[in-house]
Amino acid sequence: MRLASAEINLTALKENLKLTQQLAPNSKVMAVLKANAYGHGLVKIAQHLQDADAFAVARVDEALALRTGGITKPIVLLEGFFDPSDLPILLANNLQTIVHDISQLEAIEQANLDAPLTVWLKIDTGMHRLGVEPEEFEHFYSRLKRSKNVAEQIHLMTHFACADDTKDSKTQEQQTLFDTLVSGNSAPLCLANSAGIIGWPSSHGNWIRPGLMLYGVSPMLDCVGNQHGLQPVMRLTTKVIAIKRVKAHQAVGYGGRWQSEQDTYLAVIGMGYGDGYPRHAKQGTPVVIRNKRYGIVGSVSMDMISVNIGNNLDDIAVGDEVEMWGPHLPVEEIAQCADTIAYELLCNVTPRVSYEYI
Ligand code: PLP
Repeated sequence: MRLASAEINLTALKENLKLTQQLAPNSKVMAVLKANAYGHGLVKIAQHLQDADAFAVARVDEALALRTGGITKPIVLLEGFFDPSDLPILLANNLQTIVHDISQLEAIEQANLDAPLTVWLKIDTGMHRLGVEPEEFEHFYSRLKRSKNVAEQIHLMTHFACADDTKDSKTQEQQTLFDTLVSGNSAPLCLANSAGIIGWPSSHGNWIRPGLMLYGVSPMLDCVGNQHGLQPVMRLTTKVIAIKRVKAHQAVGYGGRWQSEQDTYLAVIGMGYGDGYPRHAKQGTPVVIRNKRYGIVGSVSMDMISVNIGNNLDDIAVGDEVEMWGPHLPVEEIAQCADTIAYELLCNVTPRVSYEYI
């Protein structure tokens, strides 16, 4: 029996997709599955998102893992490719690529391919990470149009930098710039990530690219998934492995970073940064045992964490299940306690954790 377990609720996953489709009823869905489907298991998640219209991953090897796993839907590479030798692999595996850099355009133009590639041209409207400059857009588009290696229909896309904050005017500015650039062009358009889908309905376009919301987690600042009707997909649990009595002022754990004002009991639980739990979770970060919240104390170790249970000895026993995040404890809240984002916590769950799909 493995202590740490990630229960993945496939019904919740499908419900989240349904809700996403209801929010953007006129858009096709490109479900984002990069980084092992945000830590949920790449192929398994793809298999249970049959109602998505396409999948997106960051890298070629992620796409190939989906193909090896029997996934036949269209797959888009969000980082594109950077080595021209990848192009025949893309074609052989029916992978679509984003083009965001001149090196890619030149590689495509110079390639000797048996058939045309499906291309998504990414325009940088303000994220300033990937994408062609607005003033270069027409040039890239017309060169792609002329290339025999590019399929007739070119898709146009951009990515939002600040859509999680509905008070930030940047998203509207990005959208306006994109609309201006593509006006009169009949190409399919794709702008919105989860935050765009939830917070910026006017950005929905022909395609949407939800990631985080499919996993039941809110992309919006200071919100949790169920405020949008989403259901958490991952439930990360472990067990109590010891109950330990400590006296007042005895320092607990590595570095002795915490001590109790009075005698107390600790539940030592089998979870640590070796499972992907954040080492910098602050004192008092909640866990749930028998439907009640308790706070962690001391340093998070590789394999263990101490939880202050006071004198609740009748309530807690060795072997009890502990929820680290899930339906009773939003991962968004744990992320705040660890000064990070839910994306990072989900991606960081390590292979030591056993996955169970329900
Ligand atoms: N589109 C692109 C280009 C991305 O890089 C990502 C993820 O970071 C997404 C869509 C999905 O974003 P989210 O998980 O916030 O929905």
